[in-house]
Amino acid sequence: MLVDQDDVELSVIVPMYNEEQNIDYLFERLIAALNPLKIKYEIVCVNDGSKDNTLKCLIEHHRRNPAIKVVNLSRNFGKEIALTAGIDYAIGAAVIPIDADLQDPPELIAELIAKWREGYDVVYATRRSRQGESWLKRLTAKMFYQTIERMSPVPIPRNTGDFRLLDRRVVDTLKQLPEHNRFMKGLFAWVGFNQTSILYDRPQRYRGVTKWNYWRLWNFALDGITSFSFVPLKVWSYFGLTLSLLSFLYASFLIIRTLILGIDIPGYASLMVTVLFLGGVQLLSLGIIGEYLGRVYEQVKGRPLYLVRECYGFSSESFNQPAQNIIQVQKN
Ligand code: UDP
Ligand code: MG
Repeated sequence: MLVDQDDVELSVIVPMYNEEQNIDYLFERLIAALNPLKIKYEIVCVNDGSKDNTLKCLIEHHRRNPAIKVVNLSRNFGKEIALTAGIDYAIGAAVIPIDADLQDPPELIAELIAKWREGYDVVYATRRSRQGESWLKRLTAKMFYQTIERMSPVPIPRNTGDFRLLDRRVVDTLKQLPEHNRFMKGLFAWVGFNQTSILYDRPQRYRGVTKWNYWRLWNFALDGITSFSFVPLKVWSYFGLTLSLLSFLYASFLIIRTLILGIDIPGYASLMVTVLFLGGVQLLSLGIIGEYLGRVYEQVKGRPLYLVRECYGFSSESFNQPAQNIIQVQKN
């Protein structure tokens, strides 16, 4: 059964990776929060290659409630890409990405919509506090936001996840950004438009465990920094320049001293220190160039961002995303 696709006002996008334990409660809370708003909505769930019963549960929910739609990706592509797929499939006049683990309270949607009706294009929800997260996670998150704030020419709001409302204008702009490295928080900020924020206390994950270990978070941070700043690339020119000046001064000192005092054999320690230091700096700077180069390569290959195995609940007209991303479309 298909719902009338024309006048969907709100699309809620939920990327899901192994979230079977959260699905029932998520829909219960979401629908309880959405129904009183009296708007026509759809819930676009993107199954990001889950290994548990997430897809089965989603299809069951879709059968009972056609407003729940399912996009099943061909494998796990990561949250940023899953979100991109959801944004491509959503047709609402406003779009809200939300986590499946209920860390983004659905009750806030009413507030987001109210701000949107006031005329804002982007309403983001900023965390006033984070519950149930270790001091290490909070510290690293803080360091990350501070670093990216200093490096990025566009301000990326602190303590703000992907939970936000995006107007159709913003969504259409986002869909035109061809980049592979999709650091969504940055892209949402980059597009600009009229932005405002609301505050909330971020609760703990309802069930299950986070999929973001520190290694994944570190790479996420690298993605963010490399896609929004050239500072790590440029800093080496200045560093090299300073080092060359210092070496010139030191070389002059050595030459003059040798001329005056004659050849002085000891010098092993200073030689070793210089060689090792310079070797280290060169490798580090090469590594950083490598980080950028790898991402350039990724982009140049031009592979589709994601592949869809099948989807449930979409009319064929609503496939307004690049056709290359669909392997097989199963209407339901
Ligand atoms: N997620 C996803 N693909 C992934 C990892 C996570 O779609 O590879 C989804 C996940 O199901 C959840 C959201 O992204 O809905 C946030 O993930 P998580 O709660 O693990 O992250 P955290 O809240 O710890 O940052
Ligand atoms: Mg979470």
